[in-house]
Amino acid sequence: MYVIMNNNERLAIIQQKLSAALGASVVSNDPDVLEKYAIDETSDLKGNPWLVVYAKSAEDVSTVLSVCNEYCIPVIPRGAGTGVTGGAVPVCGGVVLSLETMNSIIEIDVENMIAVCEPGVITGILQKEVAQYGLMYPPDPASLDSCSLGGNVAEGAGGPRAVKYGTTKDYITGLEFVLADGSIIQHGGKFIKNATGYNLTGILIGSEGTLAVITKIYCKLIPAPAYTLDMLIPFASLEEAIRMVYTFLINRIKPAVLEFMEEDALIVASQYLGQAMPHPEAKAHLLIQLDGDSSEEIERILQTILSLGMVHPDTILTAQSPQQKERLWKARRCIREAIDAKSPVFLAEDCSVPRSSIAPFLTGVKEALTPYGLQSIIFGHAGDGNVHIDVLKNDMPYEDFKKLVPALKEIIYGQAYRYGGTITGEHGTGFIRKDALKKFATSQELSLYKRLKKAFDPNGILNPHKIIDMD
Ligand SMILES: Cc1cc2nc3c(=O)[nH]c(=O)nc-3n(C[C@H](O)[C@H](O)[C@H](O)COP(=O)(O)OP(=O)(O)OC[C@H]3O[C@@H](n4cnc5c(N)ncnc54)[C@H](O)[C@@H]3O)c2cc1C
Repeated sequence: MYVIMNNNERLAIIQQKLSAALGASVVSNDPDVLEKYAIDETSDLKGNPWLVVYAKSAEDVSTVLSVCNEYCIPVIPRGAGTGVTGGAVPVCGGVVLSLETMNSIIEIDVENMIAVCEPGVITGILQKEVAQYGLMYPPDPASLDSCSLGGNVAEGAGGPRAVKYGTTKDYITGLEFVLADGSIIQHGGKFIKNATGYNLTGILIGSEGTLAVITKIYCKLIPAPAYTLDMLIPFASLEEAIRMVYTFLINRIKPAVLEFMEEDALIVASQYLGQAMPHPEAKAHLLIQLDGDSSEEIERILQTILSLGMVHPDTILTAQSPQQKERLWKARRCIREAIDAKSPVFLAEDCSVPRSSIAPFLTGVKEALTPYGLQSIIFGHAGDGNVHIDVLKNDMPYEDFKKLVPALKEIIYGQAYRYGGTITGEHGTGFIRKDALKKFATSQELSLYKRLKKAFDPNGILNPHKIIDMD
């Protein structure tokens, strides 16, 4: 016999069941807590969580999922809530499953160069811990001081070092995860190569909490370079800065970081930090990090760069001390916060295009945005073609800006596809880009996504309305 229950009745039952199984202290419907978990770092998006549950183990996650699956209650996995596409926002209510308290580095296996971590470990903390052993975990999203490894895996996060070292997907050798029905699965492990069965770890990287909840992560580590040199180079135009990237790579110069910032990006960062601009006349800058095993190696690369004749040695600003290095990086890492402080409502896109198309793509976007009279700020990963385009509302009335957003997105995505690129390089599809995915993906691709989702999560409880809407 079926008993038909409304949402409130189902919610009361699951709250009671979860409190009994996990302890009332980790199940909260306190309005202040719900308020905190209604948002992530996405501009202008708020959800409506019904409950927040803090998991302490894979078994806790399994309990939450099997109870919610039985009552068809949405579950929204959440790491540190720094996502910028609404992935952790409970847009249709449900239980927010926080992995924050599963934050132990279980093991740093120095011999195998693998760290085994719980998903709530903060990325920057893992980096500092492994550095003590002369090792490096390269993925370095600009949010590394606050984002979690679970969120990085779920988003397939990248960062400035992607040009040389790749992104999160290149450093995950295995996962433990929990399916919607509560079953716990281990795939991969401490071994680097794996051709056994399907690549379930690969499927889960970038799945944004829609297929399973990740409860353990095997992270590949590499020996840390002994020396690094950070520098900022000004250019008279964006085109010149981007041409430099190609020139580097064709001359076998592979910096660890090759970031570009258009004039406006550095202005907004300087204003936010209250620092003077190093080269106010420049239209674009490249932030470069060289790394190597000796200072001589770095000096050799620097001399090769100068021999290319594209930059005057006097204009290069090199970080001579840890404090100067910190200043250079602060300016790059704070751009998003600086934009948020200037205009809390803004459109943030992160298209990915072939490297050679960065300049024409951005010129095309700028030209198409001109008639709207809105300020756009452009920066990103020149070395891999992943470009951040933020369009600020500033003092335009909110409703007017909201009305424009679909057209602005259409322009930006349209240009990305025109130049052989795609909608997003690292921030993911989440809630705010699923309509664009529907438009730009083929019907065969969308149908396969839906079948994949159904296979992992037949009742559709895991992070509904993210990436794709099910029928
Ligand atoms: C200032 C700033 C700078 C940023 N810079 C970068 C950057 O350089 N590169 C980049 O890639 N991103 C960047 N981001 C975006 C964001 O930090 C990343 O997407 C990050 O990976 C999110 O991690 P999180 O722990 O905060 O995840 P959340 O925001 O909590 O969640 C993100 C998604 O992952 C899912 N999820 C979280 N944990 C799990 C889990 N254990 N199992 C299954 N699903 C899970 C959630 O459901 C959600 O869909 C930046 C954000 C900010 C605010």
